[in-house]
Amino acid sequence: MDLSSLTIKKLAQGLGEKEFSCEEMIGAYLGNITKNDKTINAFMSVFDKEALAAAGEIDALISRKEKLPALAGVPVAVKDNILVKGKRTTAGSKVLDNYIAPYDATVVEKLKREGAIIIGKTNMDEFAMGASGEHSAYGLTQNPNNPDYAPGGSSSGSAAAVSADMCLCALGSDTAGSVRQPASICGIVGMKPTYGVVSRYGLIAMASSLDQIGPLAKNIEDAKILFDIIKGRDKMDSTSCETGRELEEAPKEIKNLKIGLPEECSGRGIQKEVRDILEGSIKKLAGKGIKIENISLPHVGYGVSCYYIITPAEVSSNLARYDGIRYGMSKSGDELLDVYLNTRGEYLGEEVRRRIMLGTYILSAGYYDAYYLRAQKVRTKIIEDFRAAFKKVDLILTPTLPTLPFKLGERLNDPLAMYLTDLLTVPANLAGLPAISIPAGEAGGLAVGLQFIAPHFQEESLFSAANFFENEIAPRHS
Ligand code: GLN
Repeated sequence: MDLSSLTIKKLAQGLGEKEFSCEEMIGAYLGNITKNDKTINAFMSVFDKEALAAAGEIDALISRKEKLPALAGVPVAVKDNILVKGKRTTAGSKVLDNYIAPYDATVVEKLKREGAIIIGKTNMDEFAMGASGEHSAYGLTQNPNNPDYAPGGSSSGSAAAVSADMCLCALGSDTAGSVRQPASICGIVGMKPTYGVVSRYGLIAMASSLDQIGPLAKNIEDAKILFDIIKGRDKMDSTSCETGRELEEAPKEIKNLKIGLPEECSGRGIQKEVRDILEGSIKKLAGKGIKIENISLPHVGYGVSCYYIITPAEVSSNLARYDGIRYGMSKSGDELLDVYLNTRGEYLGEEVRRRIMLGTYILSAGYYDAYYLRAQKVRTKIIEDFRAAFKKVDLILTPTLPTLPFKLGERLNDPLAMYLTDLLTVPANLAGLPAISIPAGEAGGLAVGLQFIAPHFQEESLFSAANFFENEIAPRHS
């Protein structure tokens, strides 16, 4: 069975026309996992028996000629910081080594309701802190296309699993690019919704003012199908809201869109090979009659500094709950304080502890104004930059990463180099904007993605531009 060209629609067609049974198809994905995942290490856990049983139920529905739900039989992998009821959920951390999710995240509930089959939980940087997949406490994930290279992070396993046909699509979480960046590196599509459009209920918090769950898929159509199912207001997440057609003015005809190119995202600091692919794509867009305008986002260059103040602050607060009492692992001690110290010292990884220490310092009396408040002001400046830009253009185009994919180990001992990976993805999180990474080309066998950013709630325009790009500018599928 050729899984590499399967899409959600083709899967539904194949099932409907009895080209294959749901069990055969799920069996083929599980076969790929068995064959390849010992080296790739994309999965934390695989639910083979349940997945086959669920497939059997779909086959029974088909033989009874019953109407199938929208995602009937679609194998979806879920990042290990998103709760799936009854399943171990570690968020890539030893501190949650024994934690079993007591309920389904809203996104998981929605997927299950539509007949999707949760095939497994995917590896990730511990608590979603990282850009390479190397900060998982359960071993690094390999880039399936280039084994010496990092798959990107923090949704490393989700991106690798989709790319290596170990599932059809996946969910990740994106706080500074963790869906878009590994998608770009693994040569697939990854999308971050407008902040609030997808419920965070059941997502293990990292930086709550930035975290969003988003889809990873082989193509735009599948990413959109998944997004349409997981989006929407949820009473369990007070920051969630409606979106889509209800809130957006009718999406503009693609030919009438004006695309902005921020000078700050295409010049200094961007590797030549990446710039070449951006420029090539711009030429093709212009050739198709799309209007391109140079714009400026004067403060985005401060995005990484601003993010690495705000995030550690939120992390130090959110991760205070891992104290050896309330959740997960515990290491005993003579006094209560020893239990806290022993547990956190033993079970939290180096990068996580670094951020907790930085965040605690940033929020401490006397430094709060100097760091945290100042970073919040910079965040507002970045939001204002986008607001001004979107008065002139409909969408913004940038590379997803400033460099080509990097090797395993290359940035591991240099936190600053690792942090700079987020340069072009972090602004959309700080401003709460929807953004999508699309495969745009290759340089020396390494995948390069470009990113569209849209105004708040304009996911429809974002997807239709991305669709146009996929079909007309950088087509991959025959
Ligand atoms: N590289 C970012 C970080 O380490 C990724 C965060 C994310 O999007 N989860 O914070």
